[in-house]
Amino acid sequence: MPYLFIALGFALAGGWVGKLKGSSFWIWFLISGIVPVIGLAAALLYRWDRNELRRECPGCGRVVKLHDAICTRCGTELEFPDVAIASEADVAERRAAGHAPNAANSPQ
Ligand SMILES: [Zn+2]
Repeated sequence: MPYLFIALGFALAGGWVGKLKGSSFWIWFLISGIVPVIGLAAALLYRWDRNELRRECPGCGRVVKLHDAICTRCGTELEFPDVAIASEADVAERRAAGHAPNAANSPQ
């Protein structure tokens, strides 16, 4: 049953990658075991996407990735912004550390 070993190898690799990136080992273990190549690729790309800086669309206010050229909701063409919003991962880390997302910027 060589396929089983291949799937298990991908599952372990996917789970390990997912855990390294601060996600659940078992979620990525299952995903990578069920769809070996795609699951592992998803695990590898997962946090990369979360680490992207974001900005707000001037047209509709949707928060999109900094590198997006066109808003995915309203289709507005997006200039490269002056200010970026902290990445999801940054915000999550600050929340975990016990700070509100914008605590550093709020006036006393
Ligand atoms: Zn928009």
